[in-house]
Amino acid sequence: MRLKTKIHLLTTLLMLVILVATNSGIYILYEKFAYNTEYKQLQTRADELSSALSQLNEQTNLQQVLRAYMPTDGAVYIYDGQHLKTKVQASLEMPDVPHITFTMPAIWMDRTVVQIKLIQPMEEVANTLGLLKVILVVVTIVATIPIFLASLALSRLILLPLERLNETMLKSATTGKYEKIEIPDKGGDELTNINRTFNLMMEKLEQHYQKQQQFVSNASHELKTPITVIKSYAKLLLRRGFDNKEVAQESLQAIVNESSRMHEMVLQLLELAKNNEHLDIHFVKLELTPFLNKVATQMQQAYHRAFVVDAEVPNYIYSDEKMLKQLLFILLDNARKYSEKEVHIHATETVDHVLITIQDFGVGIPTEHVSHLFERFYRVAEDRNRKTGGSGLGLAIAHELAGQLGITIDVESTLGEGSNFTLRVPKEGQL
Ligand code: ADP
Repeated sequence: MRLKTKIHLLTTLLMLVILVATNSGIYILYEKFAYNTEYKQLQTRADELSSALSQLNEQTNLQQVLRAYMPTDGAVYIYDGQHLKTKVQASLEMPDVPHITFTMPAIWMDRTVVQIKLIQPMEEVANTLGLLKVILVVVTIVATIPIFLASLALSRLILLPLERLNETMLKSATTGKYEKIEIPDKGGDELTNINRTFNLMMEKLEQHYQKQQQFVSNASHELKTPITVIKSYAKLLLRRGFDNKEVAQESLQAIVNESSRMHEMVLQLLELAKNNEHLDIHFVKLELTPFLNKVATQMQQAYHRAFVVDAEVPNYIYSDEKMLKQLLFILLDNARKYSEKEVHIHATETVDHVLITIQDFGVGIPTEHVSHLFERFYRVAEDRNRKTGGSGLGLAIAHELAGQLGITIDVESTLGEGSNFTLRVPKEGQL
């Protein structure tokens, strides 16, 4: 059975049960109240008759007295033990109509004990109850129609957004597109919120998919150049390399250079893929100055260039040593690549952060490029032509690493003068 039908049937049924129970309650209470009132009146009448009987004498017209106390259209019987002594009664035969009776002892004229029995017909009360029953049944039947319609509207109200969600998901699955549900920008209930969350999820998935697509096309585009170079030099080697040593030498050198570049790029791509996963990050206490000195020494040994550490504060930070080192290596490597002079590493502190700045006095970066530096495969146009051997992936990796460590990177650069890359490191790890 469809959920809509279930909700519809259940709510209708529930409302009907409540209505029938209420109406039955009203009927029963009214019936009880009406009979009680009549019964009490009959009891009072019997009491009065009993005291009247005790004051009677032989001259009194008994029938007249009894008639005076007889309930309207009812009857009065007086029994002496099991035998009927006397009676007055209206024209009706009592057993044929609904009635109530009340029996009590009384003192007869000869001082003997008799039983008086008053009978009162309840025809009027029965008629009123009958009318009430009809009214309540009609009310129940008439109320069923709006209840039925209201529960139908309710089930639609609840299920319409869910149906729309289902339709959109189906459409997405069949067309392969990231379909969205049309909903108002503001307001709405919990179900509208589910649809809004769905739209947000679709948007994120679409962005993610586009990013991946772009990454794959960028990666294949970047790998195409070295492969083409390798292929053309290999062909040259085949054609003329066996006769001409110089050509062979040049070709093999080019092949070695390009394959190294490819190797480097593939390693960087793997690094990026790895950074997208959730890595195990171990925040440890790091003494800042010894840590920076160690990094600078390693760079110095590898590239035979001057890396000057200038940490103003003998401070510590909480970070992942390996990841922070990797991040600094990328920035220091760039500073080295794009400058000729020494590279400086400064460290200062604010209340919550330690600021580590990598400063070079090199070519600098044109302002319009700064906001794109952290995009994958992004290289400043001049550097593409200058063949510094980069791939445009270094800063993208740095950005991912910084994100994992809760670090933000600020860039300041003046063309022809140099660049400052500042890491804003939270002192206590993630803030
Ligand atoms: P690449 O492998 O090309 O160095 P990166 O992502 O590390 O890739 O850097 C992207 C681009 O940003 C570089 O191509 C370069 O043009 C520019 N860049 C990065 N660091 C510096 C710097 N210290 N000085 C000048 N330009 C820089």
